Amino acid sequence: MIELIDIFALFAFLLGASIASFLNVVIWRVPRGESIVSPPSHCPKCSSPIKWRQNLPIISWLVLRGKCANCKAPISPRYIAVELIGGVLFLATFWRYGIYAPLAWVWISLMIVGSFIDFDHQVIPDFVTVGGMILGVGYSLLFYFLPLAPDSVFSMLPRVLKDLRYISDFHAIAISPLYSLIGLAFGFGLLWLVRFLGTKAFKREAMGMGDVFLLGAVGAISGPVAVLVVLVASSVFGSVVGISMIILNKAKLGKFTAIPYGPYICMGSVFWMFWGPDFVNWYLRLIIPR
Ligand SMILES: [Zn+2]
Repeated sequence: MIELIDIFALFAFLLGASIASFLNVVIWRVPRGESIVSPPSHCPKCSSPIKWRQNLPIISWLVLRGKCANCKAPISPRYIAVELIGGVLFLATFWRYGIYAPLAWVWISLMIVGSFIDFDHQVIPDFVTVGGMILGVGYSLLFYFLPLAPDSVFSMLPRVLKDLRYISDFHAIAISPLYSLIGLAFGFGLLWLVRFLGTKAFKREAMGMGDVFLLGAVGAISGPVAVLVVLVASSVFGSVVGISMIILNKAKLGKFTAIPYGPYICMGSVFWMFWGPDFVNWYLRLIIPR
């Protein structure tokens, strides 16, 4: 029997895929300085306009078998990949966060845009990084807690802070933006330091300021504990991909190839949103003998 929750879940997936379909346009046009509203979608090869039924997320790409309906020019499978990522992440965050899921959807949309523009152009737009910071601080002002810093993280706070959180609404309101701002400063400061030391050691720019701002946004949205987890997770993801590329002979060891770091910070942020607190609890049990 179909229950209401299944209909919501289906809606979350379709919404994610549709928004990602629009994000594909943003990813292509914004770095090229083009408007995201006009002209309407058209084939880059033959310029024929794309009808609405050729522009349905996921389905149209499959029906057209990845080719333009008019000139048969190939359409990159990345379009359907981005749409699937959007659909799956919106659905998964709906299951994880329930009514708070739309808060995650805004951040996920920004991360999808930031990641793919970083892959293509090695820059992360300011509206992603600064936008993420504003989003995080904004959420902390709207709620008594950081919605994307799962509640169990508060169980790790020192007793006095925990008590403050429940003493009165006033204190709870004060704690939440403070937690967000500490996260922002910690994320920004930590990666700024890594960048500073890396640049000194390698005598070349070790990473872009976009990455530094991006980890600041992660901190504003999910707090300082998330910053540490995301830094570790992103390094692991980046290393796995980097080593795979060396094995597959796509990159050479010792030769500097520009590997964008932004997408791995975003993967780390997704990891945090689903498994962060479990990971922290597991790690704490590992290092604290009892
Ligand atoms: Zn065409």
